[in-house]
Amino acid sequence: MRELAPAKINVCLCLGPRRDDGLHELLSVMQSITLCDELEMLDGQRDETVCPDVEGPNLVAAALAAFREATGWSGPPQRIEIVKRIPVAAGMGGGSADAAAALRLLARRSGLGDTRLLLELAAALGSDVASQLRPGRVLVRGAGEVVTALADPAPFGVLVLPSGQMLSTAAVYREADRLALGRTAEELAALEPSALTGINDLEAAALALAPSIATALACAREAGATRAMVCGSGATVIGLFDDPLEGARAASRLVDHGVDARAARPFPGAASAPG
Ligand code: ATP
Repeated sequence: MRELAPAKINVCLCLGPRRDDGLHELLSVMQSITLCDELEMLDGQRDETVCPDVEGPNLVAAALAAFREATGWSGPPQRIEIVKRIPVAAGMGGGSADAAAALRLLARRSGLGDTRLLLELAAALGSDVASQLRPGRVLVRGAGEVVTALADPAPFGVLVLPSGQMLSTAAVYREADRLALGRTAEELAALEPSALTGINDLEAAALALAPSIATALACAREAGATRAMVCGSGATVIGLFDDPLEGARAASRLVDHGVDARAARPFPGAASAPG
């Protein structure tokens, strides 16, 4: 069984106050894009996750263990192989996307796990997993666990510029606190998401920790992006293009000049997915 795990971009990300549990309130419109990891799940000798590109414990292994425990599924051992294309620790939610895709695979394989249980499991695995359970466009509130599906947008192009630099999400949030970038709960509640495209409150924190981001932002602007911004907690930079073909052309021009650049488009949500 195979499943795609699409990366996400934050079309906007507005930071609110820190909650008692240490997580931050936020408001974000997240868009899945066509830059995807790929998961294959097979019956194996034991439950295992194979992903040579990620060192240390894999979130997919945690998803598998949590799924078995919550559902009591005692089906055959599962081997999950991951082909990693989403840059790691880059603000594109790759680990969360993989864990969400693993939950989809396990629900299909076992016939167990209703939407509510999957959402609960996802939220416990990490703050971005619930938003990735159904790829598409979503509005996210709370600390990532309050997810509302949105309609697919008009086509647009995304230029992805991975900086090659890994940034820890926790470190970026700590820096955002130090710089007092958060808004009050009242300010956050008053925001209108559709008017926020291109705004990322974490940008100054990511820039402080990874100054090379400034070069990537300039590169995306010079390439013709309508908007250039840090993706999530960084250090990836994205350029948004009204015309998807322009985004693809910009990426291939940059690749010709030796820049690590990728082109992507919105990944269709469930309502518009073929079949
Ligand atoms: P966030 O969802 O906070 O934006 P990110 O996109 O910055 O995260 P990820 O690529 O999801 O970062 O990885 C964050 C950390 O999670 C990495 O340091 C990595 O070691 C660990 N990790 C565990 N499993 C995975 C996985 N399947 N893919 C990527 N990273 C993983």
